[in-house]
Amino acid sequence: MKFGALAERAAGERRVALTPMSAGDLGKLGHDCVIETGAGAEAGFSDDAYREAGVEVLDSAQAVFEAADVLGKVQPPTEAEVDMMREGQTLISFVWPAQNEALLERAKSKGATLIAMDMVPRISRAQKMDALSSMANIAGYRAVIEAGANFGRFFTGQVTAAGKVPPAKVLVVGAGVAGLAAIGTATSLGAIVRAFDVRPEVAEQIESMGAEFLFLDFEDSQDGSASGGYAAPSSPEFREAQLKLFREQAPEVDIVITTALIPNREAPELWTEDMVKAMKPGSVIVDLAAEKGGNCKLTVKDERIVTDNGVIIIGYTDFPSRMATQSSTLYATNIRHMLTDLTPEKDGKIVHNMEDDVIRGATVTHDREITWPPPAPKVK
Ligand code: NAD
Repeated sequence: MKFGALAERAAGERRVALTPMSAGDLGKLGHDCVIETGAGAEAGFSDDAYREAGVEVLDSAQAVFEAADVLGKVQPPTEAEVDMMREGQTLISFVWPAQNEALLERAKSKGATLIAMDMVPRISRAQKMDALSSMANIAGYRAVIEAGANFGRFFTGQVTAAGKVPPAKVLVVGAGVAGLAAIGTATSLGAIVRAFDVRPEVAEQIESMGAEFLFLDFEDSQDGSASGGYAAPSSPEFREAQLKLFREQAPEVDIVITTALIPNREAPELWTEDMVKAMKPGSVIVDLAAEKGGNCKLTVKDERIVTDNGVIIIGYTDFPSRMATQSSTLYATNIRHMLTDLTPEKDGKIVHNMEDDVIRGATVTHDREITWPPPAPKVK
């Protein structure tokens, strides 16, 4: 099997789906690799580094499509890329099928197979391919680094000859993958960290990282858990109680990192305008949910704004791409695991097993069919 990595076409996308290291690992599994020239440059991987790892560097996307059996990239393929695919060829990338129906139709009519890394089911066996989690982990880390770079004080408390400095107070809203990464990063920088989530089962994890879980004083203590580590929507009463808790926190905390997500919905609005107004000047909000409308009412997607009362609100949606070397390394490893599962006999032959929960879940077009949405996975 020959794997071909393409350069990204989307503006500002710096990641790449193959690294020299993952090419070496694929080589050990008997797969050859080709890459479009310059594809890794912005992630810190030169054409020469790929050549040293045994990868053939080709001078155009067209040449990669012609040479490869399976193609890899980060962002969904463009229409022009789908048009370059031949019957039976496979492309692996983020696809976001719910937002890209025309793309699915196009791939279907070409007889191309699209595997969506964003549709890998969240089951234990698939963790090694879970690119959304790999990227959310990086985003959570980077959110704290970004907050620190915008915050005018230390995170850690210090006693210096020039005076005593209090530690920063950080509130993390939503303690899934990104939230837990943010909590770990903020505690390791010495901040006082509090976190809230609608899923009570994360309390123990939060506390084991040295942060405080904010419990809600709510009559019918609500379990906001749905399946697969995701949350279910909250009742209006629960939401009111949650907002009351946040209103109490707003004047106290210096940094708020919001990561609350409910699958297939707009981001829940949890940090209201009056909460922003109640915050101290110089406080920072990093809203990781900006792509889906934001958890903070005032967030502007892809921008850094400063409010009239001096609160900085960051709504960047490209945190993984801002750490392109790290994110490419993890993403390329997720892709390598997907390729390993696609060649189960270790003989380089692709077996697209639609009985396999992971491959079935991630496959959005195959055999001239749109195969999304998939049935629920059978195993946990
Ligand atoms: P996740 O599903 O693992 O975590 C989301 C958490 O939010 C869950 O723990 C859930 O219980 C919690 N939640 C849901 N509703 C809540 C509420 N009302 N109050 C408090 N908590 C609530 O998701 P994730 O993978 O950690 O991703 C988090 C967010 O980060 C997503 O919106 C994702 O799109 C985003 N993200 C952003 C970037 C970026 O560059 N900005 C990059 C990667 C991910």
